[in-house]
Amino acid sequence: MSEKILIIEDEKNIADIIAHNLKREAFEPVCAYDGESGLEIATREDCDLILLDVMLPKMDGWEVLRELRKVSITPVIMLTAREEEEDKVMGLDLGADDYMTKPFSMKELISRIRAHIRRVGYQRPEGPEGLLQIGDIKLDPAKMEVRKGEVLLGLSGKEFALLSFFMTNPNTVFSREELMSKVWHYEGFYGDLRAVDVMVRRLREKVEDDDAAPQYILTKRGQGYLFNANF
Ligand code: CA
Repeated sequence: MSEKILIIEDEKNIADIIAHNLKREAFEPVCAYDGESGLEIATREDCDLILLDVMLPKMDGWEVLRELRKVSITPVIMLTAREEEEDKVMGLDLGADDYMTKPFSMKELISRIRAHIRRVGYQRPEGPEGLLQIGDIKLDPAKMEVRKGEVLLGLSGKEFALLSFFMTNPNTVFSREELMSKVWHYEGFYGDLRAVDVMVRRLREKVEDDDAAPQYILTKRGQGYLFNANF
C-alpha cells in the first residue's frame, strides 16, 4: 500500500522536485497547481497527507484549508515562503497539522510526512495478534488486510485504523470527538466534526452490503457511532 500525497503548489518546479523525491521514497504523489483543483482532488480522493502552499492562484491556501477541514481529517502540512509567526498561528487555528518554511530540506519534509501518516494511520501491533472476525468481516492486524467473505477490501490507513478500533470495541457508542482522538490521535481538531461522518461513509461503502442500510456501522442519533457485533 503506497501512501498518496497531494501536493498543492503553483510553483511547478517546486511541486516537481517534491513529487520526484516522494516517488523515490515509494509514496504516490499527485500534484495540483492551484487552490481550486487542489481542493477538488482532496475532497474526491482519500489522500494520506496534503502539502499545501499558502500563496496560490484561484483560492489561497487558507481558504483551501478552511473548506477542506469541513470534510477531511487528512493531515495537512502548510508550505510557506517566509517565516511568519502570524501565518503559523493562523494555519494551526484553521486545522493545519504542521508548517514548513521554504526552502526546506527534503529529508526533514519526508520525516514529518511519515510522522503524521503514522499518527492518523494504523499502528501495527508488536508481537502476534489474532485475527478479528465479526459477521463476515475478517481483519488481520499483522498483514493489515481486511476481507469480507473471501474478498479483499482496499482500505486506506485511516480507514483501517477506524475499522480496527471499531472491531476491538464492538457494541459501544463512540462520539465523533472520541473517534477523532482515539482513532486518529487528534487532540483538539480545529475542523468540522462532519469530517468524521465522511470517514464513516467511506468505510461503510467498503464494508456494508448496502451502505444506505448499514448492518455493521450504526449511527446513534445525537451520540455517535457503534460497531454492531450482534447477528
Ligand atoms: Ca505559491
